[in-house]
Amino acid sequence: MSAGLYLHIPFCASKCAYCDFCSRPSGDDVKRAYVRALINEIEYMSSKFEGKIDTVYVGGGTPSCLPRGEFARLAGAVFSCFDCEVSEFTAEANPESFDESKADEYERSGVTRVSLGVQSTDDGILRFLGRAHDFEAAKRAAHIAAARFDLSLDQMLGLPGQTEAQLEEFAAFADCVGAAHLSSYILKVEDGTELARRVKEGLVLPDDERCADLYDAFVAAAAKRGYLRYETSNFAREGKRCRHNLKYWRMDDYLGLGVSAHGKIGSKRYFVASDVDAYIRRAEKVEFVYEREELLTPESAADEYVMTALRLDDGIDVADLERKTGVDFAARYGGRLKKLSACLDISQDRVAIKPEYALVANAIIAELI
Ligand code: SF4
Repeated sequence: MSAGLYLHIPFCASKCAYCDFCSRPSGDDVKRAYVRALINEIEYMSSKFEGKIDTVYVGGGTPSCLPRGEFARLAGAVFSCFDCEVSEFTAEANPESFDESKADEYERSGVTRVSLGVQSTDDGILRFLGRAHDFEAAKRAAHIAAARFDLSLDQMLGLPGQTEAQLEEFAAFADCVGAAHLSSYILKVEDGTELARRVKEGLVLPDDERCADLYDAFVAAAAKRGYLRYETSNFAREGKRCRHNLKYWRMDDYLGLGVSAHGKIGSKRYFVASDVDAYIRRAEKVEFVYEREELLTPESAADEYVMTALRLDDGIDVADLERKTGVDFAARYGGRLKKLSACLDISQDRVAIKPEYALVANAIIAELI
């Protein structure tokens, strides 16, 4: 079976107010040293991994903020070290660092799909979020990307003052630019962020009910433009679902390389530590110590499958779960499924959360596992 490959780039132009991802602004020297370290890890991992790679996803952080030529070096290392039959190669980008020359480099590197962090069509909201771009820059970058790649646009929901009209405008913009895929995440307040500090000082964010209204409005606006929800936060045109991310939701194998990445091969899961400087130091000596490794039992693998697959509109493929985990689905979950049947679509071979319960998926999943 082929696996996906994720590479993490932990650099950004500046730190957004809500962000707790492993990312930071850095000078070009550090970025170059990190790319060298990541190539060392690519060489190390590829010597241990025997399968093929069929999807690649370079995320962050902001992969497009690497100095000229560094992204191509990374991609070159992937293709020369791993046995690749890549059907989808996604690279994330942010508008302030994506122009024609970056598109050239992505194209030369084999990228087929660009995921662009637009977040909002409203400049006031972009400033509130601390984004490094305005909507004009997002439009320019989106047009450049759409001319050469499958384009996915990211948006945030649940923002102060956000209106249904803005969500409609985002869907119309995506349609007009020719995007193939949309991701739309509800803002979460993460500990230690600038946003958490503001909330502590009295900032009020939209409550759950308002977030649900905004979410429903966006699902409808996206559908009207041909973007159909296939996962709680992801929407695609026909044939344009993200194959790499589907691997996570269906418990397929993937390697994760770079700081804060994680991977799963068979029943083994591992986590890479988040310290960029330590990663660079260790990688120079080809020392890759994974912060944590765990072995999934059949039952924990099945629970994880249920947890991720229930976010998909297609839900759990029962035969696939049983094949991948060895667990008898009906024996483990049958009783609890009955109790939750009002919220679920249950057939012999699939179980899915009814669309109207998508936003309370986490509560349903917690009852089930
Ligand atoms: S661009 Fe993305 S990864 Fe970078 S700071 Fe902003 S939210 Fe975080």
